Amino acid sequence: MGLIHELPVELSNQIAAGEVIERPASVVKELVENAIDAKATQVLITVHQSGLRSIEINDNGVGIAADDVEIAFQPHTTSKISTDHDLFNVKTLGFRGEALASIASVSKLTVVTSVDGKSAVKAEFSGNSLLKKETHARSKGTTITVEDLFFNTPARLKYVKSLHTELNKIVDIVDRLAMGHPEISFRLIHEGKDLVWTSGNDNLQQTIAGIYGRTIASHMYAFENSDADYQIKGFFSKPDTTRSNRSYISLILNGRYIRNYQLANAVIRGYGSKLMIGRFPIAVIDITLDPSLVDINVHPTKQEVRLTNEGHIGDLISEGIRQKLSTKNLIPDAVKNLERKTTVDQVEKPEQISFDDLSMVDHISEPDPKPIVNDETSIDELRAHPIFDDPKHLSAWDKRLKEETKPTDSDSSFPELHYIGQIHGTYLVAESPEGFYLVDQHAAQERVNYEYYRQKIGEVAADQQRLLVPIVLDYPNSESILIREKKPVLESIGLYLDDFGQNSFVVNTHPTWFVAGQEESTIREMIDYVLNDSKISVAAFREKNAIMMSCKRAIKANQHLDDKQAAFLLQNLSKAENPYNCPHGRPVLIEFSNRDLEKMFKRIQDSHDTRESE
Ligand code: ADP
Ligand code: MG
Repeated sequence: MGLIHELPVELSNQIAAGEVIERPASVVKELVENAIDAKATQVLITVHQSGLRSIEINDNGVGIAADDVEIAFQPHTTSKISTDHDLFNVKTLGFRGEALASIASVSKLTVVTSVDGKSAVKAEFSGNSLLKKETHARSKGTTITVEDLFFNTPARLKYVKSLHTELNKIVDIVDRLAMGHPEISFRLIHEGKDLVWTSGNDNLQQTIAGIYGRTIASHMYAFENSDADYQIKGFFSKPDTTRSNRSYISLILNGRYIRNYQLANAVIRGYGSKLMIGRFPIAVIDITLDPSLVDINVHPTKQEVRLTNEGHIGDLISEGIRQKLSTKNLIPDAVKNLERKTTVDQVEKPEQISFDDLSMVDHISEPDPKPIVNDETSIDELRAHPIFDDPKHLSAWDKRLKEETKPTDSDSSFPELHYIGQIHGTYLVAESPEGFYLVDQHAAQERVNYEYYRQKIGEVAADQQRLLVPIVLDYPNSESILIREKKPVLESIGLYLDDFGQNSFVVNTHPTWFVAGQEESTIREMIDYVLNDSKISVAAFREKNAIMMSCKRAIKANQHLDDKQAAFLLQNLSKAENPYNCPHGRPVLIEFSNRDLEKMFKRIQDSHDTRESE
């Protein structure tokens, strides 16, 4: 007797489900994507126990015809694709025709749907078998309720993490789908509490407000950069509004949330050295291109996407961000920082305000808004999370947003600084017609030096200077081997090592930009970089050395500068590509605008007071 037989359909569905439906969030993703494909303008997602008890998706889309309901729940049935040609021109989100069959095979599923808003059909499935089908009533659209997920595949449940993790993933998915569709209103309710609620009025910044909150949305800049083939637009946070990881960089490709490492990096690259080391921006980048240039079907969850012209798209993104930032005055406002700092101190430790802390204020005073929940978050805290109160606030938000994001007079480029004096041997005082400034002398010097060295280090054939006495360097065997391998990296900045016996090297010349008297320590530090990171790229190596050299050269705080030197430093600073931060990301200067001074001396009313009393 033959042993080969066809798998029972329930079993093959469950196997397929294992790929598509990993956890409650995957159910939310597939069903919400179907609602979007069905041209819904409102999608309501109601979840209990992080989706393990129930998930309900209610949309006002086109609905499913009564005759199609059973067909839709068969594997590989779809209304979205019928030819090869379609496969390469997918504009809708789903097209594998697996989701409904998969979800139904691992849950108890009910669908109520109407194509005309008059007659509706209700069908109940359990583990993929149709239990009941009857006529019903509802408005045009579809409601799918998924209960007892994985009830018949307990092994799956093992992969489900804590309730908080699962809820986090659901929120994350809804956020991403909402960002891709500002024209659709999404509302996510968990245990009766709103977690996401977007306006659906096709305004991306308001959608961002519905996801990250209004404060963040108002600390973002809009940008656009397009050419004949690619249209890029989006929002990115000011360099002082950052997060500790890159997951707040969202990429939307033709309305679909995607992951793409290279493009996320392009966002970061756009900031140049304006970000603190180890901090990442918040950004939503919307990319529109011809669907034939995309290979979407790379991964079953369809998130990691390959693009034909990634490098070029990345350049459009980073260039767009760079250009926008170059038009902005990024000097931290002393008064705003002081106000914020005060509120933080009131909560934490009532201490004297120190200017040293100002650079950190943004990161302290605004806790990361996401993950909204983590494994430690209690459901009560979750409930307390104020994302949206009421949609009618949206129009009020809209107004506030426009007000808060509209460029102010000072929001232009770098001011002309006139040197006044030095305090504590550390800070330079300067004025401009707009206000006065405290400049961190050491940070300013580091910035000016850094830009000098970055240019020098980038030059292909660095001018060499002969050493009077060659420098001999000894390294242990293992390190010598690595150094020998890494010679091309060292040579990329003009450092030439000649073999000098088994474990030794000799250096006869060095680039002219070395600091006199520090040749050997400089060379040793450079070699340390390749020893500490054997995979270091030429670009990263150059960057590290530019920072190292700028530190070496920079004047130390407390060192007195005479007036001429100080004025010269300010003059050089104003010519810097990024005069706002030192290469480590600390601020170079802070501003006390004329307006701030008038407020502090109570010559004028605080603008907030006036707005509130209107
Ligand atoms: P796919 O989305 O890949 O086509 P699914 O299994 O997710 O496959 O859905 C099967 C079909 O059911 C869809 O092609 C669509 O015609 C229909 N459908 C599913 N959900 C909805 C919905 N919310 N509104 C209208 N039609 C739907
Ligand atoms: Mg689908």
